[in-house]
Amino acid sequence: MPAKITEVHPGIYEVFLPLPMRPTIVNVYLVDCHGAWALIDTGMNTADSFATLSEALESVGTRVQDLDVLFGTHHHVDHFGTSATIKKHSGATTLLHKLEQERVNRMLTLGPPSSNPDAMAFFTTHGFPIDKYPIEGMRPAWMGSDMYNPLPVPDKYLSDGDIVPVGDREFEVIWTPGHSPGHCVIYLRKEKVLIVGDHLLPKITPHVGVYPSSPSNPLGDFLASQLKVQKFDVELVLPAHGGVYQDHRHRANQLIEHHRYREAEMLDILKRRPRCAFEVAEEVFGTDDRPMFHVMAATFETLAHLELACVEGRAHKSLRDGRTVFQTV
Ligand SMILES: [Zn+2]
Repeated sequence: MPAKITEVHPGIYEVFLPLPMRPTIVNVYLVDCHGAWALIDTGMNTADSFATLSEALESVGTRVQDLDVLFGTHHHVDHFGTSATIKKHSGATTLLHKLEQERVNRMLTLGPPSSNPDAMAFFTTHGFPIDKYPIEGMRPAWMGSDMYNPLPVPDKYLSDGDIVPVGDREFEVIWTPGHSPGHCVIYLRKEKVLIVGDHLLPKITPHVGVYPSSPSNPLGDFLASQLKVQKFDVELVLPAHGGVYQDHRHRANQLIEHHRYREAEMLDILKRRPRCAFEVAEEVFGTDDRPMFHVMAATFETLAHLELACVEGRAHKSLRDGRTVFQTV
């Protein structure tokens, strides 16, 4: 068996697909349902990734054409970016949460930020220096390219608590909003296996940010989703990035603590004087020259913490000279 695929549980395979960006690998999962095949997530729609997927499937006796069901954990390019291509080859029934379908369509129709007054107002009010950074650079390189080829309308929507039978397996859907509004993890109850997408990564914390048109308190959603998955009995966790691991409750607690620590750090900064999200991000993440994408992610991840602090009554926000300014209560 080539190194690009490994059996992590009887009949459940981890497939490593290349990404032209960091993280450099996304793991998708192939499940032998004995008479049917299911795939969870797709990789990016590059020739390299598709060839790797095809080769990996062939090495265990199946083909992309033979896939019966395709689950998308969420709409992101490395998770759902090849879904239209896979659908074309296989006709697989493709499933995605409704809120993710809305994100897919937003991604497909989104113009440059400069053509979007709401986005410009959002950047300005949170102090993001749009004069310093070329605004067009805010679009990721893959957007509007072949690398993102998602199915615009899935065959079925995933909803919390759904049980999707495929062959002799049952895939249980757990809605875990936070990293994206309709993110779902897939639970195989009998096997005690949890396929977590980006929700519970072993080494990195997934990005949770507030953006124009995103839910207002995604970090609150993310933390609630961490508590939610802890109720399930799991022996093996299959993440989209990083190695498989065992203790999902421990990792969920670490992620909760990490964000609580960050929130406390930000509230300390606000105690000294009120600040906008960009200023708080500079204090927490530093002011060195970094690619704009990182600065943006830091700003809107900071904003997610500040919005959560407001919801929890630890901070409040007001408008001052065109800026949204946060302060402790
Ligand atoms: Zn993601």
